[in-house]
Amino acid sequence: MTDAALPTPASELITWYDVARRDLPWRRTRDPWSILVSEVMLQQTRVETVIPYYLRFLARFPTPAALAAAPLDEVLALWAGLGYYRRARLLKQTAQAVAARPDGAFPRDAASLAKLPGIGPYTAGALASIAFDAVEPLVDGNVARVLARLFRIEGDPRSGAARKAVWATAAQLLPRERPGDFNQALMELGATLCLPANPRCSACPLAHRCEAHRHSEVDRYPTPRPRPTPLAVRIAVGVVDAAGSIAVLRRREGGRMAGLHDLPSCELRAGDDAAVALSRHLAADHGIATLPLRAIGTTRHAITHHRITLEVMAGAALERTPRNVVRERAPDGGHDAAPLGLAAIADERGIEFVTRERLAELGLAAIGRKALAVAAKARPDQ
Ligand code: SF4
Repeated sequence: MTDAALPTPASELITWYDVARRDLPWRRTRDPWSILVSEVMLQQTRVETVIPYYLRFLARFPTPAALAAAPLDEVLALWAGLGYYRRARLLKQTAQAVAARPDGAFPRDAASLAKLPGIGPYTAGALASIAFDAVEPLVDGNVARVLARLFRIEGDPRSGAARKAVWATAAQLLPRERPGDFNQALMELGATLCLPANPRCSACPLAHRCEAHRHSEVDRYPTPRPRPTPLAVRIAVGVVDAAGSIAVLRRREGGRMAGLHDLPSCELRAGDDAAVALSRHLAADHGIATLPLRAIGTTRHAITHHRITLEVMAGAALERTPRNVVRERAPDGGHDAAPLGLAAIADERGIEFVTRERLAELGLAAIGRKALAVAAKARPDQ
């Protein structure tokens, strides 16, 4: 046998992948746009969750040009439930940049791909190698874990020297033939066998090469990142009704979850009464006066490093508020203009009142969806 015919980690991994790989929709295509959509959706989200979103999204936006031309509202509504909405906005920016290129197509090399908005080193490597067969490495969380264990790489592979080491190792292992399949095989190994806890080493095609396995030190790799203590936060969120319609807020551009709809809410300080604080917030920030709000239940929500208790309030909005009366006065200080209705208040303060049917169509953020679920279960006398 010549050296060239000796099995390598890459050849063993690809042989295993050809047999063991899961049949996933984005693995049936080399279309860079479809691959990009899948990669973006799969960030921090499970495969089973992503599949229906991926199929719906591509049916509606089959090309970057289709997404580039779509209103953000519609994009966010299709994304609702996947979380991490920043991804949807960045994907739209990527689509706009691709659609604006002279040929309207993706560049084919990782360095040019990484210059597009929303595309980092990992996604550039994935697109270049999977869609265009470029010999480009990639490292995501799964790959970092596999490589850290295979070669007992010390340190947090998300930063510093350990990060450089896993990227260099990924590049070193990468074959010239089928680089995209090799990259996907590494990710598949991390997703199905080399799991964060209790990896299935007995089924692993690389067990005989794995340093951590050989030293019975699989649990030591990768070095865990020190986790900050989660912060406890209380938020009051309102299901505020006016003649059967519900007050909905569009989150402001530049803030968290910008462009997405949500129910009005405010963060509570220690000792705050949720109903009183939310009433004040509705009046001061949104110009909406309400009848006394009542507590209808609580639920939990977690956002990176925050453990949130949502205190859900319900109540009816009044048609007019003292503040609105001031705003109704004509600019020259003369006689009152026509009274503003709730719809007009909506335009000025980012709040609109929508029917429950329309509410179901809007891309509502997680806090709003959880509050509505509490409201749906609340007794009428609450
Ligand atoms: S032998 Fe175990 S720890 Fe090593 S790469 Fe395979 S699954 Fe991961």
